[in-house]
Amino acid sequence: MKLNLYNSLKRNKQEFKPIKTGAVGLYTCGPTVYNFAHIGNLRTYIFEDILKRVLIYNDYTVRHVMNITDVGHLTGDRDMGEDKMEKGAAREGKSAWDIADFYARAFKKDIADLNILEPDIWVKATDTIPEQIDLVKALEKKGFTYRTADGIYFDTSKFKAYTKLSHQNLEALQEGARVERNPEKRNPTDFALWKLSPPSSSRQMEWDSPWGVGFPGWHLECSAMSMKFLGDQQDIHCGGTDHIDVHHTNEIAQSEAATGKPFFNFWMHGAFLIIQGGKKMAKSEGNFLTLENAFLNNSINPLVFRFASFLTHYRKPMEYGDEGVEAARNGLRHLQNQVRQLSAADAEVSDFIHIDFKNKFLETINDDLNMPRAMAVIQEMLKSDIRDTEKRATILDFDRVLGLKLDQLDKERALPDAVQKLVDARIKAREAKDFAASDELRAEIEMLGYQVQDAKDGMKVVKK
Ligand code: AMP
Ligand code: ZN
Repeated sequence: MKLNLYNSLKRNKQEFKPIKTGAVGLYTCGPTVYNFAHIGNLRTYIFEDILKRVLIYNDYTVRHVMNITDVGHLTGDRDMGEDKMEKGAAREGKSAWDIADFYARAFKKDIADLNILEPDIWVKATDTIPEQIDLVKALEKKGFTYRTADGIYFDTSKFKAYTKLSHQNLEALQEGARVERNPEKRNPTDFALWKLSPPSSSRQMEWDSPWGVGFPGWHLECSAMSMKFLGDQQDIHCGGTDHIDVHHTNEIAQSEAATGKPFFNFWMHGAFLIIQGGKKMAKSEGNFLTLENAFLNNSINPLVFRFASFLTHYRKPMEYGDEGVEAARNGLRHLQNQVRQLSAADAEVSDFIHIDFKNKFLETINDDLNMPRAMAVIQEMLKSDIRDTEKRATILDFDRVLGLKLDQLDKERALPDAVQKLVDARIKAREAKDFAASDELRAEIEMLGYQVQDAKDGMKVVKK
C-alpha cells in the first residue's frame, strides 16, 4: 500500500519511495544534553518513533541514526549567546563532559520509559570532530567559507537554494536578523562552521584545527554525522518545526554545497507541544515539564503521555494540560482493559489478523501518520463482531506501531470492576494528597481480596 508523507521541502504530501528499494536511511536530530528533555522535546521523539515504526510496519528495513549534541549549541540558534553545555556545567558545578554524560543517560531512560525504539546508531558530536573538520575543509576548498575574528563562516549568498526548505523571503529575513547581527558576517544568515576559542581563555571542550583551537558549529555536526553513517544522499531527516528556518536550512546548505548532491529527499517536522493557554515550552524559559516531574512522580505511567500524543496529529500543535492527561489516562486504561478481556478469552485458539481492519489501519497510518484516525479504527475493530481471538491478534499487530506494550498485560492484572473503581478513586485521592481517604480505599481494596503495592511508577494491585 502507498505510504504518503508530508515533505516540508515540497510543502505537500508525497508518496514515499526510498533511494534503495526496501531500505530507509533515517536521521533524527537528537537532544542537546545540557538539561533534561522536556515533554515538548519528547513529543517530537514520539512522532519520530511512530514514523520509524510505520516504516517497519510497511516492511522497510530502517537504519536510524540519532546524534547527541554535546558541544557547539549556543543559546541563540544563529551563533550568538552562550554555549549551552558550558552554561549547564557552570549551573551545576560539574564539567561539561560530566553534564553531557549525565543528561545523555537521563534521555535514554526517558525514551525507554516511552517505549521509543532505540536508534541503530547513537553518535555524539564530540566523537566526530575529525569528520566535521574535513567537511569544513571541503567547503573551504570550494570557496563557500570566509574567516572572521571568531571563526570560519559559511557564505549563504553563495548557495543559491538557501531557502528551499524554509521558503523564507530572504530580504525580509535579512532585515529582521539585522538586530543581532555580527558586523563581520557578510550576510545575516551566514553561520559558523568552526568557532575559535576566545584568545584570552580556554574552553572545556575545544580541539585543534587547521584554523586554530576551537569547536564546531552546531549545524555542522548533523551534516557530518549523517554523511558518515548514512552516506551523502539519504531518505528522511526529522526534527521539530523550530529546526526548519535555521538548523535544517543550514545543514542542507553546507551538505549540498560540499557534495553537489541533494542531501535528504524527505524532511519531516513535528509541531510543538504547548502548555494549555498558549505558552510555548522551552528549556531556555525554565518552565519545562519532564517525564519524571509530570508523570513518574505523580504515579502516572509514562505510556499515558505516549497515548496522549496519538490524539493530536503530529503536524498540529498539541495542547498539554491536566484534562488532556486525565483523558489519555482513561483512554489507555480503557484500551488495556479491552485487551485484557480479550486475553481472558480463549487464548488457545490460533490467531488470525483481521485483514480488512489491518488494511484500514494501514491506510490511516500511511496517510501521513494519521494516528487520531488510527485510534478510531482500533475502537471500531474492538467493538466489531469479529471473533475475540482475531481482535487480539489484530490489536497486537497494531501495537507494533502503537508501542503501548499491549502484549505485556497479563490476565492476572485484569481487575474486577468493583476493584478497578476503588483503585481509580485511590489514584485520585493520592493525587489530591488526601492520604486518609487513600488509606481507607486501600483497606476496602484489601477486603475484596487484593493487595496494594505502591511503586514509583504507579500503584500495583495484585490478588492476595
Ligand atoms: P533540543 O534538545 O532543544 O535540540 O531539541 C530536541 C528536539 O525537540 C528537536 O527536534 C526540537 O525541534 C524539538 N522541540 C523543542 N521544543 C519543542 C516543543 N515545545 N515541542 C515539540 N518539540 C520540541
Ligand atoms: Zn540536527
